[in-house]
Amino acid sequence: MQAIETIEVEKSKIACDGGKGALGHPRVFLNMGDKGQVECPYCGRVYVLKPGAKPGGDH
Ligand SMILES: [Zn+2]
Repeated sequence: MQAIETIEVEKSKIACDGGKGALGHPRVFLNMGDKGQVECPYCGRVYVLKPGAKPGGDH
C-alpha cells in the first residue's frame, strides 16, 4: 500500500493530473469548497489549503 500523499496548495481550486509515473491520469479540476481539502478521485492525493491561504478568492 502506498501512503496517501498530502499536498499543500494556496488555492481552493486545483488541477490534478496524478503527477509522473503509474499514478498519472487525465487532468481533472477539483474544488475544495468550504472544507479546505479535497481528495482526488483518480489518484487519491489529498489537497489541503495552506494555513493562511484564502479559500475561494473570486469575489
Ligand atoms: Zn489526481
